[in-house]
Amino acid sequence: MALYSAAAAVLAGLERGDGGLKTLVYNSRFPHVRQLYALVSETLRYSPVLDALLAGAALLQAEKKLPPHLAKVLVYDLLFGKGLKCGGRWKALARRHRARLQAELARLKVQRKVSHNEDLLAPAEGASPGAPQLPRYVRVNTLKTCVDDVIDFFKRQGYSYLGKAASVEELSSLSGKKFLLDLHLPELLVFPPQTDFHNNQLYTSGHIILQDKASCLPAFLLSPATGSHVIDACAAPGNKTSHMAAILKNKGQIFAFDLDTKRLATMNTMLMRAGVTSFELAQQDFLTVDPRDSKYSKVTYILLDPSCSGSGMVNRVPTEEATPSAERLQALAGFQRKILSHALSFPAVRRLAYSTCSVHQEENEDVVHAVLQEQGSAFRLVNVLPSWPCRGLATFPGAECCLRASPADTLTNGFFVAVLERCGEEAAVPSSLPTSAEESLQQGRGVHPGTAHKKKRKKQRVKE
Ligand code: SAM
Repeated sequence: MALYSAAAAVLAGLERGDGGLKTLVYNSRFPHVRQLYALVSETLRYSPVLDALLAGAALLQAEKKLPPHLAKVLVYDLLFGKGLKCGGRWKALARRHRARLQAELARLKVQRKVSHNEDLLAPAEGASPGAPQLPRYVRVNTLKTCVDDVIDFFKRQGYSYLGKAASVEELSSLSGKKFLLDLHLPELLVFPPQTDFHNNQLYTSGHIILQDKASCLPAFLLSPATGSHVIDACAAPGNKTSHMAAILKNKGQIFAFDLDTKRLATMNTMLMRAGVTSFELAQQDFLTVDPRDSKYSKVTYILLDPSCSGSGMVNRVPTEEATPSAERLQALAGFQRKILSHALSFPAVRRLAYSTCSVHQEENEDVVHAVLQEQGSAFRLVNVLPSWPCRGLATFPGAECCLRASPADTLTNGFFVAVLERCGEEAAVPSSLPTSAEESLQQGRGVHPGTAHKKKRKKQRVKE
């Protein structure tokens, strides 16, 4: 029962605007955070369908004591989830209405001319206003397995492997039990949008990580060389940390910081499950970490994924900060500039990936531009992944070196990544880069937004 009550409380909190999904899940006292997160996310995904079923079966009218959010969670699990494994008296109540609900579900499918439950989920534009359906991205955790073994596993589970995708369009046309290898990230498999692997043994054992493609970019593009010392400045819940550990092959040292104790606890469990070793977690404000501390004297790579408005997240519920106020954006940008400057003050840092899941220029290009200017000629932008279709907004010379991601252009959440490199530190590019990153970084060498800036200014002066 605790699971359903906790899920209903999170749904109610979201509706009241008490916080974001992750925050509310972490702040609940429920011990199995992943299980709760998965149940609430899935209930939210099916929300319009559940509303239709509840209305059609008149469940809330028949059961006046059943709180609406609890009803939604119960009906989700009864019809689309695991089938009510717990739930005490509410389970008995929901089961009494099962036949009625199932009949409503069948009626809805006929009405919408679909045969599978997943097909009831609104297509691209409709799930919730402006919430397109993104593919299910599966990152293979190379600390525990390899891409070929995971492909074989899914084939044995009845999936058809279609090979490496040639275009983003190909990813969008996936349906049924088919999957592809991503065209940009070599350890990323792509499945149709509604594929749910939360109960799959590869997921529960940490062999695969369910991570949006855009969120895989920072670690991939940072590409720390095996054996390096790395900082993950705002690390929890740790998907990018585990990705970096996989790139490092667990060799080297990751110093991970976060302010949030609960998120860190979850992160610790997740990293253990993913087989990550050589990491040190600290519950500490990264702004208070002393760059001169000898402990960090060998830190050459930093991943900085600070708190942001989260405005790029497709599945955020409308009560969350989809459109932050100008003041809120200003406050976030101020923090982001400060933390980026602080990260660049680590004496040995050679390469840094800055990322947000925000679509706002204030949190992205503006932050990077302001800090690069403040740094003079010490750091420059790297022109990463030239084949990536969506670039930084042309708000300053060299901004096109940054990457943007969006549901429409890249079939991902809205995202931003910039890779900064200390000038004169080309050696920071490791020889062990995965092919596409290596290629892109090679192509990226010599691109110096500072220089581009100067050249442009020179040209302008000539014109004048
Ligand atoms: N990188 C994480 C991942 O991939 O799982 C997600 C990080 S999330 C976008 C931002 C995180 O920054 C939050 O967990 C928040 O608690 C943390 N944070 C915010 N301010 C911080 C600070 N001053 N120092 C360290 N962590 C901070």
